[in-house]
Amino acid sequence: MDPRIVIVGAGPAGALLAYLTSSRGIDTLLLERQSDFSREFRGEVLMPSGIRALATAGVDLERVAHCVPERAEAYLNGRPFASIDTSLLEPPLPTAVSQPELLEALVELAEETGHFELRRGTTVRAVARSSEGTILLRTRRVGLSGEEEIRAPYLVGADGRGSVCRKNFAANIKNRSTPLDIVWFKMPYPVAWKESRARFEMGRGHLMIVGRSAEGLLQMAWIILKGTYGDLKSRSIEEWVDEMSRYTDPELAEHLRAHRHEISRPFLLNAVADRVIGWSGRNTLLIGDAAHTMSPVGAQGINLALRDAIVTANELIPTIRNGGDLDAAAARVESRRGPEIDLVQRMASIPPHVVMGRTPFHELARRTIARVADTRLGQRRAATVMSIFLDGVTRVELEV
Ligand SMILES: Cc1cc2nc3c(=O)[nH]c(=O)nc-3n(C[C@H](O)[C@H](O)[C@H](O)COP(=O)(O)OP(=O)(O)OC[C@H]3O[C@@H](n4cnc5c(N)ncnc54)[C@H](O)[C@@H]3O)c2cc1C
Repeated sequence: MDPRIVIVGAGPAGALLAYLTSSRGIDTLLLERQSDFSREFRGEVLMPSGIRALATAGVDLERVAHCVPERAEAYLNGRPFASIDTSLLEPPLPTAVSQPELLEALVELAEETGHFELRRGTTVRAVARSSEGTILLRTRRVGLSGEEEIRAPYLVGADGRGSVCRKNFAANIKNRSTPLDIVWFKMPYPVAWKESRARFEMGRGHLMIVGRSAEGLLQMAWIILKGTYGDLKSRSIEEWVDEMSRYTDPELAEHLRAHRHEISRPFLLNAVADRVIGWSGRNTLLIGDAAHTMSPVGAQGINLALRDAIVTANELIPTIRNGGDLDAAAARVESRRGPEIDLVQRMASIPPHVVMGRTPFHELARRTIARVADTRLGQRRAATVMSIFLDGVTRVELEV
């Protein structure tokens, strides 16, 4: 195949965009360094905004393993202060999804189009733009010796945090980093929790987000301000669990201790949040985390990546078909997506300070939140803020 568009990275942004371009008859080559999607852990919570992005692209979530929480709970200093039966809420609800299955489903759909090729196990080592504007990629494929060269008339860099495409094509990066350490792991789901739960436990400098994963395990995310527990890398997982269980409610603490030897996929993450200013250049565009790396706080990254793919498809597909100005179309992607990214990143940087700050002021703020969470006015205010994280800020619909 002589591709019209080459996409680097088969994460949510690259895989959905590749499906959309190929399904509209545009020959698309997708390059992915992993041979197996389950080897790259990216988090698994889809918000309604991401679920709607998949729906507008015609991708049915029923194709993949997923889990909708039946109860959402909030705890302060180990005590419950809010609990909601989620069947009373308007669907779609935040949903835990198996990301490897979702990505497999997207590339399967793309493969059915006859205009798509996925090269797994292919790492892009370097990218450059020739004087005529063609993009040259040097790649290395698992099992082959030496490097290959690919010539791309148009390149979309969807290669996530640490993007090679960004390194070559982005000059200006705005850092919004929140200094957080995040510990992720899965363990057996508590037998006593009959329904699937999503729980937020905060206080005493800690935030814990707990939920049932798509495969029925307990997914834990323990978030602390960087440095408050020393160098986490030098501690064993048993030590992390002991420390965590000091901050949760007693029932969860007991579960953590009892199952500390059955932990799977432990992962220590340095939270990063930033945004490239100038996503596009001559014949290139960055989307998803490559354009705006999202911290896991607020579970926004997958959703924003999927929404970027929809807007990119809206802009690039008609322009490629009609032979218009692709660089102008790519510039519109950033101007349509930028306001949402900026607002979400700003909002996501607030909760860690309020939730984990250790001053008396932060403790007072947390107690006030817990008190007003029970009032009608408090719930209305919370709903307004939450709608940014749940529904997004701008209207994103597939138009092609
Ligand atoms: C631990 C963790 C938990 C998270 N939890 C959530 C959550 O619950 N909800 C949420 O919405 N967001 C979450 N996020 C953020 C979210 O995962 C990202 O924002 C999202 O995956 C970005 O999608 P993307 O397609 O832009 O990039 P990615 O998902 O990062 O995909 C990029 C792809 O490019 C490939 N790649 C990279 N470099 C190269 C190269 N040189 N050559 C070829 N291929 C390459 C990678 O293998 C990868 O498959 C989490 C992130 C992490 C790290």
